[in-house]
Amino acid sequence: MSNTSFSEESFFYDQKTESTIPLFEFNISNSKKRVSYHRNNDTINYHYGPFHPMKPFRLRLTDHLVTGYGLHNIMDLYEVDIESNQNINLIENKILKFHSLEYINFLKNLNDNSDQENKKYLIKNDIDDNDCPIFHGLYRYCLNYTSTTLSAINAIKQQKSDIAINWSGGLHHAKKFKPSGFCYLNDIVIGIMDLLKTHSRVLYIDIDIHHGDGVQEAFYMTDRVFTISFHKYGGYFFPMTGSLEETGVAKGKNYCLNVPLMDGIKDFEYTQLFKSIIGPLVESFNPECIVLQCGTDSLGYDRLGTFNLTVKGHGECVKFVRSLGVPLVLLGGGGYTPINVSRAWCYETGIANDVILKEKLPDNLPFKKYYSPDYSLYPHLGDSILNDLNSKSFLNDTRIRLLEQIRTLQGAPSVRMDNEYIPSRDLQDLMLYLKKDDKEVLEYDDIYDLDMEKSEKVLEKERIIQMLKEDSRADFF
Ligand SMILES: [Zn+2]
Repeated sequence: MSNTSFSEESFFYDQKTESTIPLFEFNISNSKKRVSYHRNNDTINYHYGPFHPMKPFRLRLTDHLVTGYGLHNIMDLYEVDIESNQNINLIENKILKFHSLEYINFLKNLNDNSDQENKKYLIKNDIDDNDCPIFHGLYRYCLNYTSTTLSAINAIKQQKSDIAINWSGGLHHAKKFKPSGFCYLNDIVIGIMDLLKTHSRVLYIDIDIHHGDGVQEAFYMTDRVFTISFHKYGGYFFPMTGSLEETGVAKGKNYCLNVPLMDGIKDFEYTQLFKSIIGPLVESFNPECIVLQCGTDSLGYDRLGTFNLTVKGHGECVKFVRSLGVPLVLLGGGGYTPINVSRAWCYETGIANDVILKEKLPDNLPFKKYYSPDYSLYPHLGDSILNDLNSKSFLNDTRIRLLEQIRTLQGAPSVRMDNEYIPSRDLQDLMLYLKKDDKEVLEYDDIYDLDMEKSEKVLEKERIIQMLKEDSRADFF
């Protein structure tokens, strides 16, 4: 035999074949779940202001990556439409289960009120309009992301999906009476309150770098929602809550956990701690649904964050929660370096679908140049990361203390469908708003789930592809 062989260089796909090669492959575990992707095309059209770190445009980048990798072909797509008045009324009914009527009226009338009237409300309620600026169309923006979360919750309630995703949601700081930390409506609280009508126990997990204070506060007195937040704690870091000592009160005592961390934590330490706490917690609390807030400001090099997680480390938490086999809602949250936000949420959309995405980014991305020089879905962190201030003994002590608290649970609370979690202070406002008695409110609620379907539609693939790939102005960065 001669030594002649095919040249390695000639052994490649031709151009035609290359364009049809999928950019993902199914994982060998093959644990396929029904996944739905919920979105609203209008949400990215709002702008917090040129110097504000929150950029709704990061959602467009995420959509581009998701479709670039072809993930839209393997999941259900829902476009939420809030155009009709009827839909808006139904959504507002849900919103008022948590937020006060006065606050909702303020948001609704921002554009009609005089600047003076608005300023008066801001001062009276101690609202920081640098963090939470009033911008054109603000209320519509809020309705958009909140109704999209409700659409995801609905897919779980109706058992149409095992995993429902809304990357525009997860605005965990908003309070009953006011906005906080770039969050106006708390879509998470509104969504979980809706879920509690059909699910007796819900676990809320928060991996944003900031404490999930708004969600913790809403469910602090109930054992039907367990809240756990992993976050940076110390000094003046926003929102300055979330210590180990905050564990719930009254019936909610011990149904709240906080994992306060210091700057610089890395993948291995974070994911080890995460798994060692979440595993026993799920076993003990036995939730019927998990809502996971996937804020990406915990990634390295975030504009506001100070952790050192990589896209893969962040996604490992999603992978672990998925493996627990409980119906799951994935929401967005913080994340202030848009290209990294989109990398992480695309990777996590892949995890939800149990596929492995190729490291090299797809070719036809409209904003591909922003991902230079590596054009990778999983870039390495590099050397200029912050020092890890979390010592082994600090992390170990934290773990021991949290596991002790989980042990005191002694199993899951019995199935109850009561509504003591609903903050009662504004019930009167709610009644006034609806001009109906308590009984009628419940009936009004019961028909909601059917009507919600009017607000969302499963899109034909062609339409969504066109919409997702829509080019947008780069000045949204
Ligand atoms: Zn955050």
